[in-house]
Amino acid sequence: MVLHVVQFHTSAKQPLLPLPPLLRFVSLTAALRLDLESPSNHHINMATPSELILEGGCDCGHIRYRVSGDPLIVHCCHCKWCQREAGSAFVINALFSRDRVLHLGAEPNIVLTPSPSGKGQNIARCPKCQIAVWSNYADGGDLVRFIRVGTLDEPHRITPDVHIFTDSKVPWLELPRGVPVFPQFYDPQQLWAKEADERRYAVLLEIREARTAQGVSA
Ligand SMILES: [Zn+2]
Ligand SMILES: [Zn+2]
Repeated sequence: MVLHVVQFHTSAKQPLLPLPPLLRFVSLTAALRLDLESPSNHHINMATPSELILEGGCDCGHIRYRVSGDPLIVHCCHCKWCQREAGSAFVINALFSRDRVLHLGAEPNIVLTPSPSGKGQNIARCPKCQIAVWSNYADGGDLVRFIRVGTLDEPHRITPDVHIFTDSKVPWLELPRGVPVFPQFYDPQQLWAKEADERRYAVLLEIREARTAQGVSA
């Protein structure tokens, strides 16, 4: 995947739009905090639009899916919840809008699972082998799917754009320099702003409209 570097402005000179908290976002008060020891962390890598096609599935093969285009963003999450759910040190989630995720085989079971916000996350699991292939969170609804990168046939083709919740990162893991690091979550109103990335901004607008239609305040 070809990556290019886009300047990520941390100053708040431009007015922020009144967009809702997105996806699993614990709180917008989780201030944007960059690893200032690494000057390159003032940049964020964003994939250029492409016709990337990737497929994946569960262990037993009952669930197969295809994702098209570059992910909106790829999170490497070091939170305790992801560690527990994966039984590992972190989880890599590639975020795709719903229309970019095509089920090729059976439909997954959607299992409501507790989440830190208290609103829960829906985890899509194979009805046979119970492997989780994607999930979504209450704030983003079903509009954005967090594809579990480990279920891709070629997971090595996806690289994290950001490391989040590094406050609970295991100490033996050294993060690569040049990738933004956030001790908690990042502020989506900055990272997903129109000036930062048009595709993400379009999804934010879609989420806001859906929440408004549902009578959910931003
Ligand atoms: Zn299966
Ligand atoms: Zn997490």
